[in-house]
Parts: sequence; structure tokens; C-alpha cells
Amino acid sequence: MTTHSKTFRGIKISAGIAIGKAVVFSHTSRDITRRIISPDEIYIEKDRFISAIKLIIDQTDYLIGQMNPKELKKIGPHLHVQKMILSDLRFIEDVKRIISTDLVNCETAVSKAFEKYSKLLHSKEKALLNAKSTDLKSIEFLLLRVLSGKIKDISLLNEEHILITNDLTPAELYYYSKQKVVGIATETGGRNSHTSIVARSLNIPAVSGIQNITQIINTMDNVIIDGHNGILIHNPSNKQIQDYSSKKVSFCLLSDKKVDKTEHMFVSKDGQRINIYANIDFPEEVETALSLGADGIGLLRTEFYFIERPRAPSEEEQFKSYDTIAAKFYPKEVTIRTLDVGGEKIPGFISQHKEENPALGIRAIRFCLRNKNLFLTQIKAILRASHRGNVKILIPMISKIDELTETINIIQEAKDILTKENKKFDPNIKLGIMLEIPSVIFTLEDMAEYVDFFSLGTNDLVQFIMAVDRGNIELFDSASSTNPAMIRVLKIIFEKIQKINKPIYVCGEMAAEDENITVLLGLGYRNLSMSPVNIPLFENLIRKIHIHKAESLVNEIIKMKSEKEIKMILERFLNEES
Ligand code: PEP
Ligand code: MG
Repeated sequence: MTTHSKTFRGIKISAGIAIGKAVVFSHTSRDITRRIISPDEIYIEKDRFISAIKLIIDQTDYLIGQMNPKELKKIGPHLHVQKMILSDLRFIEDVKRIISTDLVNCETAVSKAFEKYSKLLHSKEKALLNAKSTDLKSIEFLLLRVLSGKIKDISLLNEEHILITNDLTPAELYYYSKQKVVGIATETGGRNSHTSIVARSLNIPAVSGIQNITQIINTMDNVIIDGHNGILIHNPSNKQIQDYSSKKVSFCLLSDKKVDKTEHMFVSKDGQRINIYANIDFPEEVETALSLGADGIGLLRTEFYFIERPRAPSEEEQFKSYDTIAAKFYPKEVTIRTLDVGGEKIPGFISQHKEENPALGIRAIRFCLRNKNLFLTQIKAILRASHRGNVKILIPMISKIDELTETINIIQEAKDILTKENKKFDPNIKLGIMLEIPSVIFTLEDMAEYVDFFSLGTNDLVQFIMAVDRGNIELFDSASSTNPAMIRVLKIIFEKIQKINKPIYVCGEMAAEDENITVLLGLGYRNLSMSPVNIPLFENLIRKIHIHKAESLVNEIIKMKSEKEIKMILERFLNEES
């Protein structure tokens, strides 16, 4: 039987590449038996409930006991949250009360109690402990699985496996990581859930948010997880397995290597130094970026601090976090991007109506200008973190001058307030805008009068130039950055930038693929920002490439009409160079 390779796009949870056979655990709410009980059964159901809680707590204690000091420090607290939720007396009493008053079995009572707590979280009232709604869901599922006797033992696995499941608690993830599980894909679970943080601490490649994946993949099917790009490949072709295996090897070799600070890294074969910056999505990535020798942070996405939270982070909380990162990187520069939410990514604490067309809706700067207090608080926090002089501000999704001038007024207002409050900041802090909406290409010279630098966001720029939804996997190929139109647009931008004489950084994912990097270098771009995990791959590539040859190649490519042809030429070039 022939199997077809299929690629699924999910949410990037933890970087790295995993290749292996699937082991599928499916436990949907349909599997849970819910029923009405007779008064005689109340005692039995309460007893089942308490025994399940006790079992999980004992197992969690056992896992904590197995941890080495490093794991204890990084992962231990997440397991403690699980324990605290399950041993919370209010929760235990609630479930017992529901069993006896509603006369339902304990599975039904558990679901009801969790429903109440997750409503509490969403209604912005006092959060249950430190939980986030995604964590509550995974703990609810764990409890229901234990009650149904469906907890899986995979200790007999004898080869490396990729776990495909609906959801997972931090404790389960830790347990499976000690077995032969080397990669994870889940149907639910946000980027900032405790489980996701633990996956990153354990360096297990992971993606989430792939709907119905437990119904599509079967145990023992071949699977690749590309955690760098949030991709799962089901039944990969031999070529895909080969490509990903070599990516995996070079990533492991280079990221294990100690960085020699005196060595000139990121230098091409013909001696040109390229500046490499890191895109940071989570604070945990900062250390990795530093250890891999990044020249600074080209893009600090701040969404992490806002999404999946019961309330907006305070100025002090944001300041402390930005300041810690700026201190770690000092004197290297740290570019902090203001909140890029809206559309589908609305923080839970903001009530906003659903938009018909979220990608073109109230996003990023449009959202911030409509939520001025939130914006002013963030700008103040960024300004305060700039006191050493190594922080820059980056504004996303600017489409016209009015938005920019309004933003500049708010930055000035924040500076005036901080001066009155006697708080230190860099008065000459540099301001940049993302170049990701086509209108900016045509007004670049006007915008340049107000800003110090530009940051090219190819993820959104491709989406708007080609009219393809960047998240739609069916249109994956149409969102490629090596189509003739995109290459010509990138050339026009670079030529304009040279005349303006202001720096431009490329921070979209385009700066993470070998073919795309060749095009960018050939066009003249010299400041690239990428996920830290891609830095070793870039280092591997740049050592083999002659920039002058890439420049001649791009002079040829720019005249070509077919993307297929362009891809072939790029592939041949990279084969010859390596
Ligand atoms: C981009 O659009 O290219 C970009 C870097 O920003 P984000 O992916 O966060 O939209
Ligand atoms: Mg963008």
C-alpha cells in the first residue's frame, strides 16, 4: 500500500527535529462515561474520586523524587502546580458536593467542577492558583483518564517514538520523556501552558493545535516533528526523512558546541561577516541565543506576556522581564516589539467582538492605539529597560504615517511621565517599524523621516503580497518567499533602503531556510534575525557560501518568471557550494 506524505501546520511549542514512529493516545471527552447514580453509590463515587487524586499526587511526588537538581529547579514547579490544583480543598469539596447533590458519577462531577473553574478564569475573577485554562483542561483529562483506567504505560517501547495525543500534563510529559518519547504533537494546548514550558525545558520538539490528529495518525505510522516551524509531517517521503535527518544532525552538532568568543562566526567563504540576531518568543530562549553567539535580539515578541493571562501584566512586571533580558545581552542590542495581538490572538482580559477578517482587522498597532492605557504601560516598561542604552522599540503592522505619528506622541507622553516620576531611560532610544504591509513600501521615504530602522517581516509581507493566509496549510506553497514577485519586491525594498541609508533587519521566517537566505544575501541584506535554534544551521550554511556568487545568482534569478525554475537554480547552487 502506498502512503502519501501530508504536512500539518500547528503552533510552535518547542524547537528541534524529531523523527520516529507514532504512538497515539486518544482520550476524547466522548470516551468518558457520564451517568446518574443512585444514593447508595454516593459513597463509592466519592471514594473513587479520592483514590484517583491520591494516585496522581503519589505519582507526581514519585516523579519529583526522580528529578536531578537542574530538573527540579526548572520542571519541579510545574508539577507542583498540578499537585496544588488537585489537592485544593475547595476543588475536592466541590466535586464531592456535586456527586451527592446532583447524584452523578465522579467523572461528571469532575467535569462540572473544572467547567466552573475555567469560567472563573475567563470571567477575570480570582484565578485558581496560577493555572491557565489550558493547564486546567490537561489536568481534567488526566483525572478522567485515571478514573477510566485508561492511563497508558509506554515503558515497553523499544524504539524512539513520537507521542500524538489530545493533551498532556507537565507530569505526564516528564514521565514520557524518560521513556523513548522524542517528540510530541497535541491537538490542544497553548504556547504558554505549563506543559509547553516543560517541553522547552526538556528540549523535546513539540507542536500543538493540530486538530483531530489523534484520529488521522495511527500508532506505528512514520512521523516527523519540525518544532522550529511548528510542522508535523505524516508518512514522510524518503527525501523528507533524509533532509530532516541531516538538519537534525547539524543542529545537534552545532548547538552542542561551545562558542569560542574570539572566533569570527557567521563569516562567508569569501570573508563577509553577516550580523545574526535572535527572534525571541519566550524568555527561556534568551540563554540559548546568547550561547549560540547571537549579535543581539532582532525581535523580542512580547505577546508571551499578554496571552493566556487573567489580567494584563503591570508596568513593573514587564519592566523587570525586559530589563533582565537587556542586562543579559548588554552591550548587545535588544529590539523589543510592542504588542502584536488582535485578530485571532486576543488576550483573554480584553473583550472585543469577533472580526470577519481578522488578518486585516484590529491587529498590532491598530489594537494598541485603541487600548491606549495598555500601550502606554508597555511603552513605559520598555523605556525603563532602555536605561543602559541597548534597547530599541519596534512597532508592528504600521500601514500609514498617522499611526506612526500617533505612536510617537504616545512614546513622548511616556517619556514625560517617566521624567516626572524620576525614572531612568534612554532619551535617544531608537525607534523602528516592521515593514510587513505593502503600503509601507510605497511610503518608505516618508516613514524614514520618523524612524531609525526598519524590520522586514516577511511572514506577513508574503501574506499580503500574495493574498495567502499564512496559516493555511493548503496554501503553504503559495506563501513561499522565492516566487518571482516576492524576490522583486525584496529587491525594490533594498534599493530604496540604500538610498534612505537606514538599517534594515530581516526578522521573518524567510531568514531561516537555506534557499531563502541565499536570495536575501544575494540581494544585499546583511542583518538577519531568526529563531535561536536556526542560528547553528545558518552558521553551517554561511561558511560554505561565497556572497559574490550569491549576488551574481540573484542577478540571474530576478529575471526568471517561474518559481519552479528559481527553486531548481537555488538548489543547484547550494549543492555546488557545499
Ligand atoms: C513577520 O510578520 O514576518 C514577523 C516577523 O512577525 P510575526 O511573525 O510575529 O507576525
Ligand atoms: Mg508580522
